[in-house]
Amino acid sequence: MEPHLKTNVVIIGAGLTGLVTAHYLLKSGISVKIVERNNRPGGVMQTIKEQGFTIEAGPNTGVVSHPEIVELFEDLKADCTIDIANPEAKKRLIWKEGAWHALPSGLFSAINTPLFSFGDKFRILGEPFRKKGTNPDESIAELVVRRMGKSYLNYAIDPFISGIYAGDPAKLVTRFALPKLYKLEQTYGSFIGGSIKKKSEPKEERSKKATREVFSAKGGLQNLIDSLVKSIGTENILLNCKDVAVSNDNKIFNTAFLMGNIPVSLTSEKIISTAGGKEIDSLFPFIGQEKIQAIKQLEYAKVIQVALGYRQWKGISVNAFGGLVPSKEKRRILGVLFPSSFFENRAPIGGALLSVFLGGIKHDEFYSLKDEEIQLLVEEEIGEMLNVKGIKADVLKIFRYQYAIPQYTKTSEQRLEAISFVQKNYPGLILAGNIRDGIGMGDRIKQGRAIAEEIINK
Ligand SMILES: Cc1cc2nc3c(=O)[nH]c(=O)nc-3n(C[C@H](O)[C@H](O)[C@H](O)COP(=O)(O)OP(=O)(O)OC[C@H]3O[C@@H](n4cnc5c(N)ncnc54)[C@H](O)[C@@H]3O)c2cc1C
Repeated sequence: MEPHLKTNVVIIGAGLTGLVTAHYLLKSGISVKIVERNNRPGGVMQTIKEQGFTIEAGPNTGVVSHPEIVELFEDLKADCTIDIANPEAKKRLIWKEGAWHALPSGLFSAINTPLFSFGDKFRILGEPFRKKGTNPDESIAELVVRRMGKSYLNYAIDPFISGIYAGDPAKLVTRFALPKLYKLEQTYGSFIGGSIKKKSEPKEERSKKATREVFSAKGGLQNLIDSLVKSIGTENILLNCKDVAVSNDNKIFNTAFLMGNIPVSLTSEKIISTAGGKEIDSLFPFIGQEKIQAIKQLEYAKVIQVALGYRQWKGISVNAFGGLVPSKEKRRILGVLFPSSFFENRAPIGGALLSVFLGGIKHDEFYSLKDEEIQLLVEEEIGEMLNVKGIKADVLKIFRYQYAIPQYTKTSEQRLEAISFVQKNYPGLILAGNIRDGIGMGDRIKQGRAIAEEIINK
């Protein structure tokens, strides 16, 4: 007979979003089962330890952008500790015309930097007096050129967007992709004036926890995943679940799937999908085509990440967060992070760990390269850009993400409307994950907690 289980909530996906949601629900005594296709929890997050290197696959670091991040670590403190990056992480490098230059952090360095044009350096003085935008669908590129000038777009924002979204600032719509920046202009009329005013405004005690520092977990992000799994209990996380499909019968959801060859079904009053946008139709065949298409059209950037570990570092100084490469420079990598410079114990003493990113929305073609071709390309680029030509890395690992980073472009309005419509029409069904509410780990933690609280407080 087919195993049939009952639970209050089913969560599809044991990535960070699903695990955080389950952690808070279970803490309140609500029963949860997570249904995961993979053979391990964590989704795109995974830490690999090899030859003295602590290598992150997927995200290397997050930003303490919401108090929920700090509160999650407080909650898990018996098993996991937040790791805040040392001050080196404040230094960011940008590649221009054959060399790295520090991204200016203050007025004096902004005047002296070779990154921005002479005209734009003067133009910036007028930024507080420029009119605010009126087009709600303005792209990040349009906004930045309008307020700050083209060289800021090319040598600050374009590489910054590559680093976060692996995306194209001309396609990302500011109010969806960088909502805080959008609100800054809309509320205060200026980035510079708004930032100054915001600093002087009194802050609620809780929001002071959002320090905007760079974080990881001590020993690697896997420790955050492992601690969540421990709190949830492995009996509540069903792995290797194939062909997951949900049906809906009079406000009760039935989630059917195969575990090995055994068909299993779970009934619940609530179902939360954290699975992303691509398989929404096979997961929820009862949702109408029009709404499904509006969600499915969300485009994802493909990203290849290459970790390089050197037991003895002989290249240029890597005492910084990392280096980003503007599209205009026509290099083959998007950027490189230096995790061993700002977190302890990520590489043997005297060594260095690099995390190189390539591909993204502008360079889909790299995704189809073979591993040998990627290795060669990265060795050539890093060899030249960090002065380690001919020196082989002691450890080299390649990770591929076909649906790495969702792109919040102008289709976002339609997608968000479709999500609201579906949730209203099927009470108990929650469409979550990175199809809404932001792309970073902090956004996922905030969303997971908010969903759990909504269910708990109903
Ligand atoms: C290469 C890369 C670099 C990143 N860098 C950063 C960074 O520097 N800083 C930062 O803050 N964030 C970064 N992120 C984003 C961050 O990692 C994600 O926001 C977060 O980990 C996503 O968690 P999630 O649970 O929403 O999704 P996922 O981790 O994708 O988890 C979704 C889970 O659902 C499962 N699933 C999907 N479909 C089905 C199905 N049909 N049936 C059953 N299970 C299913 C998947 O197997 C997966 O385990 C990066 C992401 C990538 C890919």
